[in-house]
Amino acid sequence: MPLSQTAVIRSRRVVLPDDERPADVLVQDGLIARIAAHGSLAVEGARLADLGDTALLPGLVDTHVHVNEPGRTAWEGFATATRAAAAGGVTTIVDMPLNSVPPTTTLAGLEAKRKAVEGRAWVDVGFWGGTVPGNLADLEPLHRAGVFGFKSFLAPSGVDEFPHLEPAGLETALAEQARLGALAIVHAEDPAELAAAPHQPGPRYRDFLASRPAGAEVAAVSRLLAAARRTGARAHVLHVSSAAVLPLLRRARAEGVEVTAETCPHYLALAAEHVPDGGTAFKCCPPIRDEANREALWEALAAGEFIAVVSDHSPSTPDLKLLPERGGSGDFAVAWGGIASLQIGLPAVWTEARRRGHGLADVAGWMSAGPARLVGLDGRKGAIAVGHDADLIAFDPDGEFTVHADELQHRHPVTPYEGRVLTGVVRRTWLRGRVVDVTGEPFGTRLVRPGTAAAEEGGPGR
Ligand code: ZN
Repeated sequence: MPLSQTAVIRSRRVVLPDDERPADVLVQDGLIARIAAHGSLAVEGARLADLGDTALLPGLVDTHVHVNEPGRTAWEGFATATRAAAAGGVTTIVDMPLNSVPPTTTLAGLEAKRKAVEGRAWVDVGFWGGTVPGNLADLEPLHRAGVFGFKSFLAPSGVDEFPHLEPAGLETALAEQARLGALAIVHAEDPAELAAAPHQPGPRYRDFLASRPAGAEVAAVSRLLAAARRTGARAHVLHVSSAAVLPLLRRARAEGVEVTAETCPHYLALAAEHVPDGGTAFKCCPPIRDEANREALWEALAAGEFIAVVSDHSPSTPDLKLLPERGGSGDFAVAWGGIASLQIGLPAVWTEARRRGHGLADVAGWMSAGPARLVGLDGRKGAIAVGHDADLIAFDPDGEFTVHADELQHRHPVTPYEGRVLTGVVRRTWLRGRVVDVTGEPFGTRLVRPGTAAAEEGGPGR
């Protein structure tokens, strides 16, 4: 297919950065060339896609995805993850540095990732680097090679090849990242608080919840904020599960610390009260907490306290989830901690957002513009705006569907949303102006890096 095809996409609900309105969107050479009054554009040679009342949204930018390839491709992989992304309206993913082998903690690790993704991506892909004990000298080469920042853990990560940072290591790593101007993204749970919590293995969710208390998040975030204050590093708190950390973040921002935070669809759509005993598909760390906490997260989201809502898609093979329905023990203490939701994050959030009176522009802000801003891609991604990549989705906000894991594009049919009726259906996805067909071939892998979305096409080279 030629790159230069021209199309007019018409919808009575085009979701622009501030609100939605009827409009025609002209797509040329993969970019949004013009936004005009509904029904006004007649461009010679342009194909018309009239969506009627189906909304046109910017494609989602999901900055928290564990693809696990190379090394643990049995868990997910670029082909399956990016097909799931496209089917779910996500047009850019940024891959986390761990659970793949090697992890993205060295330049060689990044090159292995870039080689693995070649020819296997249905959406645009970028990479985070990782900070682990002993790789301080690797940060600058990774930064120069175009990672979006560096992830670290303050407590054990769950995989041996990605150890966590002790307090002194965190301080040194943040100082180096401040020097580089790189964003420090952090899994904030405190190992001492986790060790001090009661540990009762078994299938009861309340036992698991007690083993990962909110205090572990609070202690880790306050340690991170203190280190960010001393070093001047820009910090981002990943997957905030407990609303108890929000006052700390507010105070730090008021004091001039550059800190942002994200939360995830499962913390907004699910609550501990709904998790069945043995329901290890719901296990993630930090954990899904109670209803009151969930409501507090929604209030914070509405108040603009989270820059992004991103999936933290972190699947494993079904056997590692120890699912009782597959003969597993359902033991929360042992099951892999990670939720697969890349394809259904948008409807999961929209279902709840709409119920609370939010509009599509709010959701696009949380799931598209916000994450694009987090990684500095906001000049090219995350909004329907002239000059942006024509990454778009046709989204039926009134459509409903029942989640069946085996109908999703994820590699494995495991999801905590199984059997739930969600509102909002992605009807079509455009990547840089072209309709994505997940049953067909990918267009050619495009890797994104800071500052530009159009750095590379057709391969992983520079
Ligand atoms: Zn994660």
